[in-house]
Amino acid sequence: MKQGFDSHCHLQDPAFEADREAVYESVHDRGWGLLIPGYSRASSAAGVEFCQTHPGTWALVGVHPHDADAFEDDDEQLIRQWLSRPHVVGVGEIGLDYHYHRSPRDVQRRVFQRQLMLARELGVTVAVHSREAEADTLAEIDQVPGLRGVLHCFTGSLGFAEALLERGWMISFAGVVTFANAGSLREVVRRLPLERMLVETDAPYLAPVPFRGRRNQPLWVEEVVAAVAEQKHCTEKEVFRQCTENTYAAFCLYESDW
Ligand SMILES: [Zn+2]
Repeated sequence: MKQGFDSHCHLQDPAFEADREAVYESVHDRGWGLLIPGYSRASSAAGVEFCQTHPGTWALVGVHPHDADAFEDDDEQLIRQWLSRPHVVGVGEIGLDYHYHRSPRDVQRRVFQRQLMLARELGVTVAVHSREAEADTLAEIDQVPGLRGVLHCFTGSLGFAEALLERGWMISFAGVVTFANAGSLREVVRRLPLERMLVETDAPYLAPVPFRGRRNQPLWVEEVVAAVAEQKHCTEKEVFRQCTENTYAAFCLYESDW
């Protein structure tokens, strides 16, 4: 079964309304797994429902920094309830976004911290979004030692990546590594051990080269794999196998869960 994995795709997104089942089948036919993170209450609920009936898919639940403003006490209760269901394996995507700044910084930090604490209490892994917020992201993570985490769609500095590795975290790369202007990100890929990397699409966003501008889809994780393989001087098969294994380990998934 362990042949591939898109470790972060939003298949529950309305962008897949018309062909969600076909997209799922295309991935499932290859024996690849899918991790489907929520970003709001509604998308978390939709991801949980999808994973109950589609083998090889797992959900993460949480509230994204863009929606931090809308986080209420009820959300914490819901996250707890969802995490008691099969195939719901972590909290995500959560984090800090100082680029778009759709919620005030202090609100983002409070909501992020609350969800980090909840994940540690429940013993599950977090998937974190961090944009232009490296120092504050580390500061919040350091409040919750012992937490397992993945920094998703990594676009940060080498220093940030190394700080995360020191804390036992994994780093996930998306289609950005294929972009012409992403030389410094490819340098980060070269410097990090493959044993600590994941690959993802973040579909429907961020379609890789040569599909830029189109709706992204999980199959195109192969473009990310190819870009990583080029930097690491190894085969695509080797990269995909290792990143798949890393995904199973990071989120404590089991093949028997299929
Ligand atoms: Zn995402």
